[in-house]
Amino acid sequence: LTAAESFAVEYWPLELYKLSLAPAPRELAGKVAFVTGAAGGIGSSILDALAAEGAVVVAADIDAAGASRTAEPFGDEGLGVSMDVTSEAAVAAAYRAVVLRYGGVDVVVSNAGIASSAPIEETTVAEWDRNHAILTRGYFLVAREAFKLLRRQATGGSVVFVASKNALVAGKNAAAYSSAKAAELHLARCLAEEGGAARIRVNTVNPDAVLQGSRIWGSSWREERAAAYDIAPDELEDHYRARTTLKVNILPEDIAQAVLHFASPVRSGKSTGNVLNVDGGVPAAYSR
Ligand code: NAD
Repeated sequence: LTAAESFAVEYWPLELYKLSLAPAPRELAGKVAFVTGAAGGIGSSILDALAAEGAVVVAADIDAAGASRTAEPFGDEGLGVSMDVTSEAAVAAAYRAVVLRYGGVDVVVSNAGIASSAPIEETTVAEWDRNHAILTRGYFLVAREAFKLLRRQATGGSVVFVASKNALVAGKNAAAYSSAKAAELHLARCLAEEGGAARIRVNTVNPDAVLQGSRIWGSSWREERAAAYDIAPDELEDHYRARTTLKVNILPEDIAQAVLHFASPVRSGKSTGNVLNVDGGVPAAYSR
């Protein structure tokens, strides 16, 4: 061996080894992600997952203190903003705050939500309107502002809707909620079509029941769901696990990883108008 060859044999494996230890570039480095309903529950897990891939993260929520708490661990790379998704002015103001702070947005996750349950005869107009205001109008407003901004930036981008399995199957005694979730899902498909030429991707994640960490499940929804299935509230977790093919309960982190899939151009840069159900698998004949 020449001196140069012996040097290469001795040192190159070491250099290659060092290279293998170098952290892989993060998929969302340099991107700004705006997540609604991020004061807790699934939204705060989404924030964690996007930040772990290098995104600067904005938590927007009607619960302003909660949004700030979620964003706090990210220091300068995180911002909490107060925003009611049903208010046109509030949604526009929240985006303005993000543009002022970070110059733009690359990923928008529309996740804010509520849930309510009642047989149709007992569903009041107020309850119907509340579900549709937050879930249908809210998702429309958040997406409309995203489109205006992303088109102006001409950077492309990713909009992800967190809808629900109830968008696809009839939620028992939950017509107001389920029909609003179905509208979200179809809105996403329509927007995928509209955004295509500008490389604005729009995709939907449908969680099945996520009891852990969700504030929805700390409300009357838990009792109402248990009543709908004729079981005790503390049997719900077992009920939901038993009906899946994989025999699992769905966790906020599972939803966050599905959202990350659509947020990241590396993973899903050629997918739009798609739907990812995170439901543990359900038998073909499944209905609630
Ligand atoms: P959560 O209650 O823990 O979080 C929802 C967040 O939305 C809260 O922080 C709340 O303050 C916020 N919010 C409510 N109304 C708002 C408004 N008008 N403006 C801005 N923010 C508002 O519930 P979660 O389980 O984390 O739900 C997140 C999303 O996932 C919702 O869209 C929900 O419908 C959907 N989802 C949840 C489940 C589940 O079982 N947890 C299942 C399917 C779909």
